[in-house]
Amino acid sequence: MKGAFQVARIFDIPVKIHWSFGLIFVWIFYTMSTNTGRLDVEETLWLTLGVISLFACVLMHEFGHALTARRYGIGTRDIVLLPIGGVAMLNRLPKNPFQEFLVAAAGPAVNFVIAILCLPYFLFITAEKRSDIYQWIIHFFNPDGNFFYQDITALDFFFVGMILMNLMVAIFNLLPAFPMDGGRIFRALLSMRMGRLKATQYASYVGQFLAVVLLVISLLQFNFLAAFVSVFVFFTAMNEYRAIKQEHILGQFEVGSILRACYTPLYESDDFHLAVAKGKEKGEKQFLVFDQWHNIKGSLKEETIKEAIKRKKSGGLAQIMQKGYDALAPTDSLKDAFNQLYRNKRGIMPVIRKGKLLGVLDEETLFDFLDQQTRRRGVPKIKGERR
Ligand SMILES: [Zn+2]
Repeated sequence: MKGAFQVARIFDIPVKIHWSFGLIFVWIFYTMSTNTGRLDVEETLWLTLGVISLFACVLMHEFGHALTARRYGIGTRDIVLLPIGGVAMLNRLPKNPFQEFLVAAAGPAVNFVIAILCLPYFLFITAEKRSDIYQWIIHFFNPDGNFFYQDITALDFFFVGMILMNLMVAIFNLLPAFPMDGGRIFRALLSMRMGRLKATQYASYVGQFLAVVLLVISLLQFNFLAAFVSVFVFFTAMNEYRAIKQEHILGQFEVGSILRACYTPLYESDDFHLAVAKGKEKGEKQFLVFDQWHNIKGSLKEETIKEAIKRKKSGGLAQIMQKGYDALAPTDSLKDAFNQLYRNKRGIMPVIRKGKLLGVLDEETLFDFLDQQTRRRGVPKIKGERR
């Protein structure tokens, strides 16, 4: 994720924090200084501790997902903390719906456990204080009238806060809508009966429906933050289904069925203008670059060449190309090819069988193909998808 920098490596997973996280602390100091007219050092420290604890809980929630996934052999690329929560980027989805269910449920389960672990604190305080705290909680959720708490200390607030925060994080995440864990849990449960594609479709409809309900409610209450979140949920639900549908379509075809045997080779010694002119003939955007003996040396995008011209660079393509290459076999599935193109950011890959170059597969061909297939089928058939 852009704008996130690594702060730690825990259980061998990089933990990153997004820069916008700093805004929370700006917000704390801002509210503290405007609410009371002065900056109360002690209160500010408690609030800061509270925010740090909240994100520690969010982090543990994400590790709940990541470590459960690891049990099933799925690695986690990184965990990113954003002001709106955390994201654990798993390398892939669990294949088996039951495993997906456990991976998704592990996050909220961690928050429930933390809340339960905080409960014993209330055994060590006086009954009077317990009832004060109880009154305060009621007042917190239903702030009518005046409420004066006498001797609730910062430490009491901390524990009450930990319990309430963790319960809220868990319950919010259990909403049955992508990208919340509840959406994944719901999908996993449906997948046990109908295959992942159909399950994702239903789960995303339910998520979109919830998002619309939430949007209407939040607009009626002029709660624009909630309105923003519901729009986000709506589109995430849509994208989740689209991604699974794409993956499903691509999984049914091999690289050999769409490879481009007719492509324009560029040479290391070609100058930039010649390269652009060559590309124009067939309207290609991505190229393989060869040496004079027709060995592949690297790859290049049209935009890189144009940029080199704009910057008045001179010399051959060898200087600006992306060196080396990853090859595909004609029997590789398009799903794997898509993932590789996406990962190595090359935009084009040679297709090779037994040392012989058969053609190329590039981004544009792949996206055009995907587009055609999606339009032709609408909802793709779920052939052979049942487990
Ligand atoms: Zn989660």
